Amino acid sequence: MLEKPDLPAFRVGGIGPRMATVITSECINCGACEPECPNTAIYQGGVEWEFNGVMSAAISNEIFYIVPEKCTECVGFYDQEACAAVCPVDCCVPDPARPETEDVLLVRAKELHPETTFNDDFPSRFKEPAAADPAPAGAAPAAAAPAGGVPAGATVAAGPASLIPDADDWEIPIVCRGCRGEYTVAFQYIRPGNVFYCPHCQASFVPTRTTYVEISQALEAFSGKWRGAFDTFQEQRHRELTAFENKQRDEFEKFEESLRSFTGQGQAATGNRRRWF
Ligand code: SF4
Ligand code: SF4
Repeated sequence: MLEKPDLPAFRVGGIGPRMATVITSECINCGACEPECPNTAIYQGGVEWEFNGVMSAAISNEIFYIVPEKCTECVGFYDQEACAAVCPVDCCVPDPARPETEDVLLVRAKELHPETTFNDDFPSRFKEPAAADPAPAGAAPAAAAPAGGVPAGATVAAGPASLIPDADDWEIPIVCRGCRGEYTVAFQYIRPGNVFYCPHCQASFVPTRTTYVEISQALEAFSGKWRGAFDTFQEQRHRELTAFENKQRDEFEKFEESLRSFTGQGQAATGNRRRWF
């Protein structure tokens, strides 16, 4: 079984020296990474790997493994390691024992895919992240927040303070790493290891523990801030309403007092009462 390497200061996703990707012993054999690899470099434990028609013994019998000779760190295909992006337990990591340059990895990609033309702007983790591509035609439009700040797709309950859904019901937007199309999944289903498939291109998405924790914390923080703002506003409105009502009551009482002035200054009654009928 592969042991987790002693990692350098940077992790997958940083900009810096690059290393071949390796799967550590924390692998839970979920299989999410295997179909994501553009080079068929990932194999299930115990399964022989193939290269140019030659079969070789499995590198690991217990967990999924990566064949270093076939791994390009996704250079030429993606701007990040596809296996690391979907691994729910973050166990696809750089192998410090095998540092490789972008040039070496690109040459490998060309050897593995002689039928493919790699333009100068080929995707690579070595490059600074580019701005997100627009969603392709036919892809679901990005979730937009309509006036009032209610998230698209959110289940809206009655009452102003309940304009946002409970955390579990919140529809989390997922931008497909393959086609950049967007779809949503209720947070209650966003759990490490769950596999979701893009409705536009069928590419999979598997939340990692880190993703789950970050979304959970973000929802909790936003929800607390949102509801706190409503509470503060309603308290202030209650105070202002009370002050306004007191002021109006004072005015009303003064007016009633002034009404008495029309009648309270008449002459005292005499015995000669006027008869009206
Ligand atoms: S980094 Fe990319 S090329 Fe290497 S094993 Fe993972 S998915 Fe395959
Ligand atoms: S995605 Fe991660 S946990 Fe799942 S099989 Fe691949 S390396 Fe193992």
